[in-house]
Amino acid sequence: MAITESSILDALKHVIDPDLKKDLVSLGMIQNVKVDGNTVYFDLVLTTPACPIKDNLKDACIEAIKRFIAEDIKVEVTVKAREYKPILGEDLLPGVRHVVAVTSGKGGVGKSTVAVNIALALVEMGAKVGLLDADVYGPSVPTLLGLEGSVPNAKTENGKTILLPLNYEGLKVMSIGFFIDPDQAVLWRGPVASGTVRQLVQDVDWGTLDYLIVDMPPGTGDIPMTVAQVLPLTGAVIVTTPQRVAQADVRRAVAMFRHKAINKPIIGLIENMAYFVPELHPDEKYYVFGKDGGKKLAEELDITFLGEIPLMATIAEGSDLGKPPVLFGPDPVKEAFKKVAGQIARRLEVITAEQISNHANTQ
Ligand code: ADP
Repeated sequence: MAITESSILDALKHVIDPDLKKDLVSLGMIQNVKVDGNTVYFDLVLTTPACPIKDNLKDACIEAIKRFIAEDIKVEVTVKAREYKPILGEDLLPGVRHVVAVTSGKGGVGKSTVAVNIALALVEMGAKVGLLDADVYGPSVPTLLGLEGSVPNAKTENGKTILLPLNYEGLKVMSIGFFIDPDQAVLWRGPVASGTVRQLVQDVDWGTLDYLIVDMPPGTGDIPMTVAQVLPLTGAVIVTTPQRVAQADVRRAVAMFRHKAINKPIIGLIENMAYFVPELHPDEKYYVFGKDGGKKLAEELDITFLGEIPLMATIAEGSDLGKPPVLFGPDPVKEAFKKVAGQIARRLEVITAEQISNHANTQ
């Protein structure tokens, strides 16, 4: 039987995306199929480049072609990210694929630590990433990255001043903390805070990014609410700790993003400081505050559980010294942040697919 482009597509219709529950061909993820003798070439096009299951999908494609066409066929797959087109006519950040709010119901749960380390994990996974520290109450990104005292450069474009983000190991960083005296921050009112955050979105040369991670002001009061409204968010990640898991503030954070004034998808819940790992016994895990609280709460609130981050002295120490643990910490810490970052990328794939299909249905 001659190998044709259409026989290749028929074989690939057997490969189902486990998250989107549809085959890759009808999802438009197989492009540029070419057959040359006994070799087949095609592009596997993903909506999000840090997709943790990309290798599984690639292997499944190769297996399907060998199974349904011929065992000895040679398959060359090029994995690509889908070209970004704003889905909702959003032009505030036209070059940015996903804007992800990292938020928490209360301060002190490790929201900023998680935001910084997942942003760097996504860079390590090959994505173009920016980090916007919009925590007007207490911007801590400069400390967490050892960038205190740094001042971003600026350029003039059509008479307008455009700020250039700082570069930290490939991550583009902008923080409200580069411009204000930290003691002043608590005095801000909602409109001033949201106006300043808007400027850090609009008047910064973010370039093209796969992910812009935003460290949000904590809580669900006037300031976080107005900041969430000015950002062109794809969705929100909520950070909590086991002690807070059963608490009303997580529910309030979910309710805020589901409120019609914001109405953005919840990407999922991260349980930080979920279990204690002693430095001298890195293989041991102690669920001091009980196990699976985050998972159960996520189920109850009908949101995705993205994973757990351990409570470790090395995370607090590295963060204080401006040495982010995802880069400088021990392997289990690096793995924990990367796993959670991968789950975020995976959820964004699903959310984007839903938006594309809702948008198509309303046209
Ligand atoms: P938030 O942004 O929610 O106010 P931070 O990220 O500033 O919280 O973290 C609060 C404190 O907890 C910091 O001292 C930080 O180093 C520490 N911390 C955060 N996550 C962990 C963790 N997983 N293990 C140990 N310490 C942590």
